[in-house]
Amino acid sequence: MTSARWSAVVLVAATLAPACRNRPPAGGAPSASPGAAAAAAPRPAPRFHRIDVHTHIAPDGIERAVRLMDQWGIDGMVNLSGMHPGPPSNALERQLAAAQEAHGRIAVFTTPDFRLVMRREDYGAAMADQLSEARRMGAIGLKITKGLGLGYRAHDGVHLLAVDDHGLDALFERAGELGMPVAIHCGDPKAFWQPATPQNERWDELQAHPEWSFADAGVPSWQELYDAFDRLIARHPKTTFIGVHFGNDPEDPDTVARMLDKHPNLVIDTAARVPEIGRHPQEKMRRFFTKYQDRVLFGTDTGIGAEQDDMMYGSTGATPPTHADEARFFTQTWRYFETPDRQIESPTPIQGRWKIDGVGLPDDVLRKIYWDNAVRILRWKPTR
Ligand SMILES: [Zn+2]
Repeated sequence: MTSARWSAVVLVAATLAPACRNRPPAGGAPSASPGAAAAAAPRPAPRFHRIDVHTHIAPDGIERAVRLMDQWGIDGMVNLSGMHPGPPSNALERQLAAAQEAHGRIAVFTTPDFRLVMRREDYGAAMADQLSEARRMGAIGLKITKGLGLGYRAHDGVHLLAVDDHGLDALFERAGELGMPVAIHCGDPKAFWQPATPQNERWDELQAHPEWSFADAGVPSWQELYDAFDRLIARHPKTTFIGVHFGNDPEDPDTVARMLDKHPNLVIDTAARVPEIGRHPQEKMRRFFTKYQDRVLFGTDTGIGAEQDDMMYGSTGATPPTHADEARFFTQTWRYFETPDRQIESPTPIQGRWKIDGVGLPDDVLRKIYWDNAVRILRWKPTR
């Protein structure tokens, strides 16, 4: 229901996974229990300006998106579900028009029409032209979903389109020429390749969404996808890639660090992966964020429809999320980045039954991750 309806609305392609108490007002977040009372209370000005570079907003969800930003201390959002321009759906046109209602607080990324791969011999060029058109209309970036590598068909209609398919080179080159960053989701949590049993650490999610399992799904291994992602970034050095979900490897920050060292054109976002990165030792992650303070963009993977039932806070379970889920999501996210509190509740418990350790980053690093890096990479800043 909720998640199915949600995916249908914004074509999220089942994007997955991402809220203090003891040290409150980090982000204008309420310090007590959530819900209507918190919403009604006057809130202090947030300590930080924030851009959420990773959201999925349905055209009828703009009002709710603005309310959410005001409530939780977020200045602007990037809607990665812009879809593509042109008839019959004119989806990007509708998303851009809807974003205008937020008066400069929502920017839109476009997603390519992967049906062109089977329809056109020169699909890369056709997708590149579509990207130029999207840019002209106002889209500021390109989003590639995990469907690349896991779902979209190659030109022969039989095989899966590879993440580093040469036919797509024209598209990624054009993104570089247009100065449009490419937010790319490749693979998924490693546990989704393990048998979907109660022993699987992502069992709660897999139970709610059996279709998220890639065990015996006839898809490439996690590593094969990641290697292709590595080659893709290397092949387009003039194109900036945003490796979403903590560089697509939140389980292994050492690998992400190596990728960042190797590819100056790669930055990462934190969307839907605070529960995962919060499992690593506090000191290690603080060193990571300090070393790569210019390469990390704050994102949540919040999905926003018109109704509460349509919401997604990093991931979804079997039942629609509640206002308590919303409050936990944002307060624990701020707490993770802004406090050194240990063994705190995860913002998204459906992603695994464990506690996380906050990184307690200094203000100057937080300002880069919450704002400066996004402004530089996106070449956009929200009105505030
Ligand atoms: Zn997403």
